[in-house]
Amino acid sequence: MSKSEFSLIGIFGGTFDPIHYGHLRVAEEIVETIDLQKMYFIPAGNPWLRPVPIASSQHRAEIVQIAIQDNPRFILDKREINREGISYSVDSLRELKQEFGKKTVLCFVIGADAFIKLAKWNNWRETFNLCHFIIVARPGHQLISNHDMLPIKLQEECSKRWVSSVSSLRSSNNGLLFIAPTTMLDISATTIRARIAAGESVRYLVSDAVLRYIKANQIYL
Ligand code: ATP
Ligand code: MG
Repeated sequence: MSKSEFSLIGIFGGTFDPIHYGHLRVAEEIVETIDLQKMYFIPAGNPWLRPVPIASSQHRAEIVQIAIQDNPRFILDKREINREGISYSVDSLRELKQEFGKKTVLCFVIGADAFIKLAKWNNWRETFNLCHFIIVARPGHQLISNHDMLPIKLQEECSKRWVSSVSSLRSSNNGLLFIAPTTMLDISATTIRARIAAGESVRYLVSDAVLRYIKANQIYL
């Protein structure tokens, strides 16, 4: 299969409690840099490795939909909130691979803070057979290829997978790691929830439409 026959799509998993401009700007820049056809946002129903989210799954999905509605390349995928039990990314990746077929390359977007915990994921080694990882820095969480801050078994698994050019992502269906240069925005959902609970402004951290929805439904108070 020639490289041009591949199409690349982004998968952005997260708790999105709530989705904010940190997520959205990263997604926009990655779509542009890697030339992704689409970016699928997949809110976790019952996230693994973290406490139960504050907002319900339905609210979190609705907020994602409101946040992305004007961007034709951004798509909400509710498979994890519709699935029973704990949301494992590997299950979604398997399903998506099946649905899209061999000509589509899945690019899983992940912050450096989440990537360093990858070896705690369910069937984490299998994920390399399903997707590439597009890793983004966050303030306080930078990453350089093969960084020794990675747990040793993750470091070993990753050692031959790093690529430094976007074009390399089209040379293979899966299993590569690319650190995407993106604008670092020091925004987290934790801070947003805390600010709302304290009666402080979160304007310009989330979109106005998202803020209206959160207020109307009295979430995070
Ligand atoms: P919380 O504080 O509740 O953990 P969060 O802001 O980290 O929320 P998540 O839903 O946990 O948001 O993150 C989903 C994914 O987006 C993760 O891979 C995370 O690293 C990444 N991410 C979140 N915020 C940013 C940001 N400001 N810049 C880059 N990546 C981010
Ligand atoms: Mg987080």
